[in-house]
Amino acid sequence: MGQWIDGTALAQRIESEVAEEVLRLLESGVRPGLAVVLVGENPASHIYVRSKVKRCQILGMHSEKIELTASTTTERILKVVAELNVRSEIHGILVQLPLPGQVDSRRILEAITPEKDVDGLHPTNIGRLVAGSAVLKACTPAGIMEIFRRYEIPLRGRRAVVIGRSDIVGKPISLMLLHQDATVTICHSKTPDLPGMAREADILVVAMGKPAFVDDTFIKPGAAVIDVGTNRVDSLERIRALFGEDPQRLADHAKKGYTLVGDVHPTKVFPKCSYITPVPGGVGPLTIAMLMMNTVIAAAALSDKPVLALGGGGVYL
Ligand code: NAP
Repeated sequence: MGQWIDGTALAQRIESEVAEEVLRLLESGVRPGLAVVLVGENPASHIYVRSKVKRCQILGMHSEKIELTASTTTERILKVVAELNVRSEIHGILVQLPLPGQVDSRRILEAITPEKDVDGLHPTNIGRLVAGSAVLKACTPAGIMEIFRRYEIPLRGRRAVVIGRSDIVGKPISLMLLHQDATVTICHSKTPDLPGMAREADILVVAMGKPAFVDDTFIKPGAAVIDVGTNRVDSLERIRALFGEDPQRLADHAKKGYTLVGDVHPTKVFPKCSYITPVPGGVGPLTIAMLMMNTVIAAAALSDKPVLALGGGGVYL
């Protein structure tokens, strides 16, 4: 029988550590500051940005939202980023993805100074991650590592299988697991016998973007399962097939027209695994908490101040 991992509670613990560190930095005259650049009208992006700015305010940090219209050019965004790069009260810069089609996302991400790249996506920070010396790491995989550490799920010498090879989740989490001495296999859409490969995993991380794709046939008994997928399912029939008459799910559908479903089939996998992250309330809240943590780490590093309260074991620096 599995145990649900409470990502919301974990995120609150991390954020209270971040708040302590913000206070300490404030006492030494540094107020950590995050600038979020939002281009266009993508409703999901607006929701994410709003919650990031709100978290900053709650934790006592400075935050700015820079909104640009959907037709903004690459050159204009580069200019905004260049201005933020040199402003001393801004320690973290986040350009919310996805950017509109006409924008060269790679050029934008590469223009952010690596010391302010709180999303951990700049090639310099990716290179440092490969070398095992990253300070600013991609937030979602860094949040997953917090789950393993704080739930005391051992990694050393264990078989980890990651399904998905994206730059923001699959590749960086594979490297982080490798640095913690797991033996890592990365799977993708061309991997033959995916269930067989997944069944070798003591640790299974799924980041595919395919609702409830991974069922019990993918699971080795006792595996720890991290479900990164965040998919909107709007068919009531599908929701009932996944969750039965779960009142929360039916209320979600009635209110919003959809419910959020991970890449892992929750009711089929839960009985077979040791740990599993719910969707929502698993990996998602940790992503924002780690963004806050990265902003504080960047602020401390840019101001030549040590980071004391965070990490509790030197995992981050
Ligand atoms: P992505 O860039 O779309 O990558 C998906 C990966 O899954 C690709 O590597 C793809 O393989 C693989 N894949 C797709 N279908 C597959 C199949 N049938 N068999 C095997 N592999 C398959 O996705 P992403 O950005 O990593 O995001 C994945 C999911 O996580 C999405 O639902 C996203 O919304 C969610 N997410 C959540 C958070 C959070 O904070 N909770 C953060 C980031 C992402 P190929 O490379 O061969 O195409």
